[in-house]
Amino acid sequence: MTNNQPKEQGDGQGPARKPRGMGGVILILALVMALFLILSSSNSGGQSSIHAFRSHLLNGRLSNFTLDAQGTVSAQVNVEGQPDRPIEVVVRPFLASDPNEAALYERLAAMRLDTTLYPIPEEATKRFLSDVREQRIRVENAFFVKEVEPVSTNNTTRQDGARQPGSYLTAILQRNSELHYVRLDPPPSSSSPSLQQVTSELVDRGVPVRSYLLSLGSSDFRVTEPNPALIGILGMIGPWLLVLAIVWFFILRQMRSPGGSGGVLSFGRSRAALYTKENRTNVTFDDVAGMEEAKSEVREIIEFLKNPGKFARLGGSIPRGVLLVGSPGTGKTLLAKAIAGEAEVPFFSISGSDFVEMFVGVGASRVRDLFKQAREASPCIVFLDEIDAVGRKRGTGMGGGHDEREQTLNAILVEMDGFDSDKGIILVGATNRPDVLDPALLRPGRFDRQVVIDRPDVKGREAILQVHARKVKLAAYVDMPTIAKATAGFSGAELAAVINEAAILAAMKNKESVDMSDLEEARDRVRWGREKRSRAIEEEDKKVTAYHEAGHAIVSMLTPDQDPVHKVTIVSRGRSLGATMSLPEKDDYNHWQKKLLGRIAVCFGGRIAEQLVFGDVSAGAQNDIEQATNLARVMVCELGMSEKVGPIKYTADDENPFLGKEFRLSGGVSQRTLELIDEEVRRIVDEQYQAAMTMLQDQRLALDTIAEALLKYETLSGDECSAVLRGDDLGEFRAAQERQRQTAEKEAQRAQREQAKAAQEQQPNAAASDENPEAGLSGA
Ligand code: ADP
Ligand code: ZN
Repeated sequence: MTNNQPKEQGDGQGPARKPRGMGGVILILALVMALFLILSSSNSGGQSSIHAFRSHLLNGRLSNFTLDAQGTVSAQVNVEGQPDRPIEVVVRPFLASDPNEAALYERLAAMRLDTTLYPIPEEATKRFLSDVREQRIRVENAFFVKEVEPVSTNNTTRQDGARQPGSYLTAILQRNSELHYVRLDPPPSSSSPSLQQVTSELVDRGVPVRSYLLSLGSSDFRVTEPNPALIGILGMIGPWLLVLAIVWFFILRQMRSPGGSGGVLSFGRSRAALYTKENRTNVTFDDVAGMEEAKSEVREIIEFLKNPGKFARLGGSIPRGVLLVGSPGTGKTLLAKAIAGEAEVPFFSISGSDFVEMFVGVGASRVRDLFKQAREASPCIVFLDEIDAVGRKRGTGMGGGHDEREQTLNAILVEMDGFDSDKGIILVGATNRPDVLDPALLRPGRFDRQVVIDRPDVKGREAILQVHARKVKLAAYVDMPTIAKATAGFSGAELAAVINEAAILAAMKNKESVDMSDLEEARDRVRWGREKRSRAIEEEDKKVTAYHEAGHAIVSMLTPDQDPVHKVTIVSRGRSLGATMSLPEKDDYNHWQKKLLGRIAVCFGGRIAEQLVFGDVSAGAQNDIEQATNLARVMVCELGMSEKVGPIKYTADDENPFLGKEFRLSGGVSQRTLELIDEEVRRIVDEQYQAAMTMLQDQRLALDTIAEALLKYETLSGDECSAVLRGDDLGEFRAAQERQRQTAEKEAQRAQREQAKAAQEQQPNAAASDENPEAGLSGA
């Protein structure tokens, strides 16, 4: 065995020296810890008292139960052979984490254990299970409880003999429409089902079962509010200690950073983790869908990166920087990576917001360091994400931060000017606020080319969906164009999320593949958040929502030039209680006057339906009114659609009301014009309100039918709504649709099988028929 092992490889990191400050940090940490210990020890009684509280509650040993607004429970504990004692427990944290918790406590506190239902321990679980199976009883809630001795039993002042170690199951159940509360203990013989078996069967049957692990520690009840004096002390010195500890920590970290041998002097060295370098990004243009223009704009950059010398020889100048402009999630990072991937060059990336950190002068030196590395690795791509964080117009900053930003920006500018164009470093910047960038950044020779990346249009969305769908298993029948149509306004990232959510949904339902319903549900989730079926909506509220949405749908279907209704739902999502969605046939940038007027009417449909049916309106129409008013204002003040006001633009320029931002008139509008604008907006709104009112009065029957159908099915498609309006029977219509869908699905599956078969047949002679051009073509 030779013993010439190399010395530790010199990777720039000497053996870690123990910095001098270490002792101080430990001291401070110890102090903080000690304080926390004192505080928490005053709390530990409280910790176990919640256990005792639960145990008494679940065993029906509490009386005079009250729960106050501060989340404190007070009650009497009644244990046989002992005097009653009062308890007080803070349960606030549990209430906050579960909205049903308080109701559950009150319910349980009112229960007494019923020992007459299952009196024989040997048979209790068996009887119970068979009662459940034969539906003689209906279990509403069950609790699987395990009471255990605490690990450290140094405080053995247990006073009540009521609690014993072991597990048991309690349940609130209905029998002959009477409520009972029972407790099952583990059966003494193994011929009866165990508690675990009972529990899992209950879970399978959809009974909510909670399990509790309760410690038999101190049962001394006390209010668990921490000692106010201690809180005061900690409140006074705690923050100072924390600040000290944090500062110490940062200084330590700096000294330990790579190249730490320089100690404090090495502050500015770029930390390895600050930017990332990928030698191969493995992203190609195939992964980037639906931005053909942007792709073709950067194509020459790829050529250049592949062969920098070629361009320099002919004297052509290649941009040094490309600025990708687009809102978040539109694929700027993706495109930058794809450039690197296509050109097969390394990819350095760093985010502007990382620079705006800590000590002055650090950012600038990090920039220099980054570029030094990039020069060594050229040709390569340097990607500066969120460049607006450092590249804001200089001299507009406030406070201490802007000095740092300015220095960083200057360093970037100097570096950009400094590298020769034939070096083959391309800077790619990304921002969604090109307007705030310092003009110096946009000068020739710097980021002189801007590539705007818009949110994708219908075609683009379909392409992006297809790209991401490659990663999941799709059902034979999936109509991507419909999903693409129904995702207007989604960014690439949101579309990727739709596919991902759909795959998760399908997996949760144990499906073989992702089908249309998963995709639709996923789209709704991405747009509005999860369905909230569990949100207990009062029956009456549901009815109001159903009529409200039915009103929108009917007006939308009866108004000319409106996009067809795609679906109507009263399943609440996010903050909305229901929704009526229309699907534009194509992405719609033309807003014709008639269409806009109709949209105002549609907005009012919901509110009018409420008024017609209930004689009153709910607050749910607020958003509709806002939308209608905004539309009318835009028509009058921006689009010149009021003859009286004329084709003059009255709004301030910096906002676009179509994006839902605040509506603001520009200055210098005369009082008379203001009045005129008001009048016209009022007129448009009134006319459309009246139009919608007439429609709904005429269609009262359809309104009732659709609302009832919504209450029954919760969601209706646009076709189903039209069927109701035509007077068709909804049940029959649904059945017919389902038959149609199944046929289409079978058809698609058959086609797929045939394709596969054809491909298989072609496989053997494909190799042989190399010179047969036709075979090659048909295979493509
Ligand atoms: P940005 O940098 O503009 O905020 P990203 O490039 O980080 O956006 O995009 C986030 C994700 O969205 C990407 O990883 C990709 O999965 C998806 N995505 C965005 N645009 C596209 C696109 N045009 N084609 C395919 N996927 C896209
Ligand atoms: Zn509405």
